Amino acid sequence: MFFFFVGGLEQQVRQVLKAGAGRCINCGSKADLVDYEKVLKLFFVPVWRWPGKEPLMYCNNCSLFFPPSYSLPPSAPTPPPTDSVSDILKCHSCARVVDPQFIYCPYCGSAL
Ligand SMILES: [Zn+2]
Ligand SMILES: [Zn+2]
Repeated sequence: MFFFFVGGLEQQVRQVLKAGAGRCINCGSKADLVDYEKVLKLFFVPVWRWPGKEPLMYCNNCSLFFPPSYSLPPSAPTPPPTDSVSDILKCHSCARVVDPQFIYCPYCGSAL
């Protein structure tokens, strides 16, 4: 016997309050400020619905609801790239990037 997920609580967009009000915290695309409602579904049929208390942000791209306080500002500067150079070993002699596990540089043969 194969049981499906037959009931559940879903959130649905009731009304778009402000399109493109923020950015999705998940995928970074534009998210809308929306009025939402919660819908209780049983066997895929809505049996009960009630409005949400406060507007939420909703991403059309990944169908994610999240509080407006979590949303990224529309013109958020891209975060500086994480400094990953620190765990890359460079040869002192030829300045090429060498695997930190090596004892000798495979390019010029000097000891690291
Ligand atoms: Zn998204
Ligand atoms: Zn070298």
